[in-house]
Amino acid sequence: MILELNEQQVMIRNMVREFAAREIAPGAAERDRKEEYPHEILKKMAELGILGAIIPAEYGGPGLDHVTYATIIEEISRACASTGVVTSVHNSLTAWPIIQYGTEEQKAKYLPILARGEKIGAFGGTEPDAGSDLGAMKSTAELKGDHYILNGTKTFITSGPKAGIIIAFAVTDREKGPKGISAFIIESDFKGYKVGSIFEKIGINASMTSELIFEDMEVPKENLLGKEGEGFKIALSTLDGGRIGIAAQAVGIAQAALEESVAYSKQRHQFGKPISSFQAIQWMIADMATRIEAARFLVMNAAYMKDQGKRFSKEAAMAKLYSAQTAVDATDKAIQIFGGYGYTREYPVERLYRDARITGIYEGTSEVMKMVISGSLLR
Ligand SMILES: Cc1cc2nc3c(=O)[nH]c(=O)nc-3n(C[C@H](O)[C@H](O)[C@H](O)COP(=O)(O)OP(=O)(O)OC[C@H]3O[C@@H](n4cnc5c(N)ncnc54)[C@H](O)[C@@H]3O)c2cc1C
Repeated sequence: MILELNEQQVMIRNMVREFAAREIAPGAAERDRKEEYPHEILKKMAELGILGAIIPAEYGGPGLDHVTYATIIEEISRACASTGVVTSVHNSLTAWPIIQYGTEEQKAKYLPILARGEKIGAFGGTEPDAGSDLGAMKSTAELKGDHYILNGTKTFITSGPKAGIIIAFAVTDREKGPKGISAFIIESDFKGYKVGSIFEKIGINASMTSELIFEDMEVPKENLLGKEGEGFKIALSTLDGGRIGIAAQAVGIAQAALEESVAYSKQRHQFGKPISSFQAIQWMIADMATRIEAARFLVMNAAYMKDQGKRFSKEAAMAKLYSAQTAVDATDKAIQIFGGYGYTREYPVERLYRDARITGIYEGTSEVMKMVISGSLLR
């Protein structure tokens, strides 16, 4: 169990915090309103070496541990949750499965591109009829000569319209159920690859979310990730790690809500006093701060266990479940503290409130997190 960041982790956190305050936070509200993808920010993050945070040095990344990575995602999400999820998907859901399951050729080909931010990563798991039940996916992949031919539709894909490298899953052997699912590294310029509908959402509006359509898409057979039939295992282990990133995103959103609430409550006067002098407000702030601290410890614990090579599925699920609930609760309280102003677009807490809501849905809903936690206890 980690209780304190080391010197290097503190230095990186402070560097990212300063970068996020200067480069990410100022345009966050506008990008949200315009549903504008954070291209320029991602480029700058790549230059700083934090876009591909977990990519090993031999493939052009900084090779940071997952504790440091989680602090990076928290700091970025504190400024802009959309940029936070794009970064998290780029690392946890795209680079990580290549690092873990890729051949040497796949690593050498794709990881430097992701580290340099030349292409953005995405994860094509969910389908219209296969969300929580990913094993029910219908997309197919058939080996014909040197290529797999993929057909199917993926939905709700973060960065979908902007991604250049996508980890996607399809059924290679229907008879075997989830054990007949395989993973592939897809490039957006493969023949037969198409971006489908782009979703209008209530939050994380600057992270574009779309369908991806595969129509007789030709995927070179060397782009099979892992072995045939290992796709479901790859998807689940990838999502285990992804949940640490989303939990960190939730902590970042909650932390922003707390900081906004503290500042506002000190300057807003009613009944001749700052509202921070009222116990009702103080208690909300105390509850927010306590839950955020607890959530952060859960995130750090899961990240630390991952770094130690220990099993961490349960811990990641706990971190995501609790952090998502904390983000929703903290942003709700922040709106209450801001009163009527909190309900307007003039203040950032309404955006935080909208952004917080997704953290209990993607990369496994809160109900699925409870299934993972109880499943590991009742085995
Ligand atoms: C903005 C956004 C971005 C996303 N990004 C990505 C991405 O990049 N890549 C990707 O692959 N997917 C992505 N997703 C998809 C996301 O992971 C799914 O939406 C999520 O896993 C839930 O699946 P579903 O929406 O089909 O809901 P369903 O699975 O239909 O669930 C509906 C409800 O039923 C509950 N439920 C389902 N099964 C059970 C059960 N056995 N027991 C109890 N309750 C259950 C769920 O918890 C939920 O409350 C994204 C989604 C959104 C909204």
